[in-house]
Amino acid sequence: MTIADRLHSIQKSITETAIACGRNPSTIKLVAVSKRHSIASIEEAMEAGHFLFGENYMQEAAEKRQKINNAAVFHFIGNIQSNKAKQAAELFSMVETVDRYKLAKALNTHLEKLERSLDILIQVNIGRDVKKSGITPEKAGELLEQITSFPRIRPVGLMTIPPLTNDIEETRSYFKNLRLLGKNLAEQALFADNKNIELSMGMSHDFKIAIEEGATIIRVGTAIFGPRPNQV
Ligand SMILES: *Cc1c(COP(=O)(O)O)cnc(C)c1O
Repeated sequence: MTIADRLHSIQKSITETAIACGRNPSTIKLVAVSKRHSIASIEEAMEAGHFLFGENYMQEAAEKRQKINNAAVFHFIGNIQSNKAKQAAELFSMVETVDRYKLAKALNTHLEKLERSLDILIQVNIGRDVKKSGITPEKAGELLEQITSFPRIRPVGLMTIPPLTNDIEETRSYFKNLRLLGKNLAEQALFADNKNIELSMGMSHDFKIAIEEGATIIRVGTAIFGPRPNQV
């Protein structure tokens, strides 16, 4: 199967899953996770009509951004050090992995200089997995309150990577908890648009469950591009 074939099959699956649970498929965005995949693979996806990509490594993303047509839009979905905030502010349409005050502050400083604003998600460690980054669920509200003092940052929702498990119902409970947390925070009016918040959850192996639990952004790599090469 080609990248175009796999993209079409995932789009079809998104549509079917959404309709089956009474959701409008157009409310679900597919981020094609292109980390460690070549520029040629990204261009192949673009030729198939896909323009939204996710990258995890700043250096790699900067290089790709420079070489790829501006029609491509990138979300940053990796761990981000505060000293890389300048590049993040320059390169991405959304940073999905804001999990601390210091990073938000650094992003805002660079966004001021660039005179632009940036959509961000708060990354939540919903399963309290010691190996995962993200803020704990009970601290997310406090961080969002602090972010209200950063005018260049638009907090539009939440993102999570749940603990790895083969138990589908356990995965579902993490996604559900992210949705409930988002609802609670929206009731406190802590997002840029509290009527429409983004929930970024679900990857190649569990995106259907994520859609059933309310995902508005799914991040799919392997199921589109195949296994990741070790190096670009
Ligand atoms: C790599 C990655 C993905 C994609 O994972 P696949 O299993 O290849 O679909 C999604 N989200 C994040 C944060 C990632 O780092």
